[in-house]
Amino acid sequence: MDKIYFADKFKSHFNAQPRVFRAPGRVNLIGEHTDYNDGFVFPMALNNYTTVAISPRDDRALKIWSENMAEMTAVDLNDNESRRGHWSDYVAGIARMLELESFELPGANIYLESDVPVGAGLSSSAALEISSALALLSTVDGKLSAAELAKLGQRAENQFVGMNCGIMDQFISVHGEKDHALFLDCRTLDYQQVPLPSGQIRVVICNTRVKHELNSSEYNKRRAECEKGVRIMIADFPGIKALRDVSLQQFQQVENKLPDIVRKRCRHVISEDERTLESIDALNKNDLQRFGELMNASHESLRDDYQVSCKELDIMVEEARTLPGVLGSRMTGGGFGGCTVNLVQVNQVENFCAEIEKRYQGATGIAPKIYISSPSQGAHETF
Ligand code: ADP
Ligand code: MG
Repeated sequence: MDKIYFADKFKSHFNAQPRVFRAPGRVNLIGEHTDYNDGFVFPMALNNYTTVAISPRDDRALKIWSENMAEMTAVDLNDNESRRGHWSDYVAGIARMLELESFELPGANIYLESDVPVGAGLSSSAALEISSALALLSTVDGKLSAAELAKLGQRAENQFVGMNCGIMDQFISVHGEKDHALFLDCRTLDYQQVPLPSGQIRVVICNTRVKHELNSSEYNKRRAECEKGVRIMIADFPGIKALRDVSLQQFQQVENKLPDIVRKRCRHVISEDERTLESIDALNKNDLQRFGELMNASHESLRDDYQVSCKELDIMVEEARTLPGVLGSRMTGGGFGGCTVNLVQVNQVENFCAEIEKRYQGATGIAPKIYISSPSQGAHETF
């Protein structure tokens, strides 16, 4: 969809000519629950975007229409209101963070629409943050570096929305590159664009269409358990700051000092970092078989050690692995529902999509959603 489409939609709500910005959702191929442990992740930007059309106003009001929510809302930039528990918090949070960076924003009319599924673990939240940030910056001709933009999005989500997420989602939404997944060191923010051989494989995302409510309370528990692991292991390995600093071999020397649950959580994160590093090696050698095996091992670790899977995710993964051409299948995102990510040989994709839909529905009674995805460009203005 192009600028004309969004400008027309914008004009059905506001009387002005907008500029139009968009930012993609993402899927993480491997490296799950490692970002807030200073570790490694390997996401790619989706060809699904949140689009924000914007024109400045001469007051200090944000008038925001979300096509997905079919709702108009207003935010007053002058009153120092905090989170409302409403979808507009993501935009208001970005505005607040920009003002804290000394951008003096005018009010704005905003039309937003997304084809990133909302709340499915594909990061519609980061897509909204980053597209809003570019749009609001445009009203003051402001510029931020790509890394600053990602960090600003994360701060909005951490400090304003109140979700203590890592940097991965915002970073890939900014930095995505066509035909590449992005290997990111979440401590240093060093990154590498890694080509995916689109002639051989497709990334297929299967949405379980369930979301168990555990999500954010369990997320905070996992973070605390990881921190506890670091506090205990620091006695043996002085200077470690995060689980990222502990090798699997070091962990095995001291794991019996950790309480049961903490041991499992640490084992997941530490082994997941190693799997992620090995995945990059495998891809660089075009060893797709090995990459798939590592994805499978990631799922087992998330299910058994990190305990963030659920019945529906496990069914989707198990059914996928019985199908021809499937090199790897794992849950992706925070867990407790949401999506699986599957590495499927190109010539089997059609059959895979038809079969997995049938089988998952047969086993759960729920109709899944299947998306064939290709790595896409990060946030940008559309002309
Ligand atoms: P995910 O990032 O996995 O999609 P989150 O719970 O982190 O799930 O973010 C989803 C929330 O982001 C929604 O509940 C809503 O508040 C907000 N959001 C995302 N996309 C839109 C949109 N197009 N319109 C309005 N709100 C949106
Ligand atoms: Mg999110």
